[in-house]
Amino acid sequence: MTAIEVAGLRKAYGERIAVRDVSFSVAEGEIFGLLGPNGAGKSTTVECVAGLRQPSGGSVRVFGHDPVRERAAVTARLGVQLQDSQVQANLRVREALRLQASFYPDPADPDELLEILGLTRQAGVRFGKLSGGQRQRLSIALALVGQPDVAILDELTTGLDPAARRDTWDLIAAVRDRGVTILLVTHFMDEAERLCDRVAVIDAGRVVACDSPSMLTTRVDAGQRIRFVPSQPLDERELAGLPGIESATRQGEEFLVVGDGEALSVLTAHLARRGVLAHRLRVEQASLDDAYLALTAHAPAAQAS
Ligand code: ADP
Repeated sequence: MTAIEVAGLRKAYGERIAVRDVSFSVAEGEIFGLLGPNGAGKSTTVECVAGLRQPSGGSVRVFGHDPVRERAAVTARLGVQLQDSQVQANLRVREALRLQASFYPDPADPDELLEILGLTRQAGVRFGKLSGGQRQRLSIALALVGQPDVAILDELTTGLDPAARRDTWDLIAAVRDRGVTILLVTHFMDEAERLCDRVAVIDAGRVVACDSPSMLTTRVDAGQRIRFVPSQPLDERELAGLPGIESATRQGEEFLVVGDGEALSVLTAHLARRGVLAHRLRVEQASLDDAYLALTAHAPAAQAS
């Protein structure tokens, strides 16, 4: 079953086109990521999915409903965490969460959620007095307290320290395991790799790639870099002539071999034939970072902020 369907989405703010042509669909129970440089149109896209903005063109459906025209049907099933959480400064943490819970038919226990997010000690603190990381965690709690079927999380772990990031990832993975569909905007490759089943890379208002993190990495075949120390003298020119190997250089006792996706098998077969052992063998693969940079290489720098 499809939870979110975005087809040919376009959104202009006056002259400025924030989203040119974005299409993707998210299956129920999936964690779907939107990745892309600043100004690419990610937030505008999720705001359209959340029914907070009216698209200029194309269509958005959440469980078959139009988020703007059938707002009530959608908001009952949707939890949203946006970059700037809209909480009144004088509202206390627990009050804010209880208020949010009151809009939903079957909410989670606010105190339990505070405990999970490490905010129990701040339950009586006014929003205006919270630190950046605490506000961030409260905004996640606000998105989840309604036990929504779909959660939209924009910049989930921005401003959190490494331990809090990891706890948040575990929390999101647990939420997904309960069947919740998650649409996640992120800048962080490690977050996308760790959490997302699929990601759409958005650049200048268009989807430039949509796949699982591992398939995206494979598609941008940045090849392999192999380092090793041979057990006996070896001529690097001999290695550089092997099929699929672009270069072989020696740095002290260590060899660096650069080649395509087959380079490691070609190299190890060759070394085996020669009776040479490869000590301290390390292979560096292309990462999602490389894939992302390759896919968004033409992003206009002027839009970065
Ligand atoms: P991202 O989330 O990928 O950083 P946004 O969706 O926030 O991108 O923004 C996409 C583009 O739309 C940017 O150029 C931004 O300046 C512009 N934009 C976003 N919101 C507004 C707005 N309310 N009014 C005018 N322009 C906007």
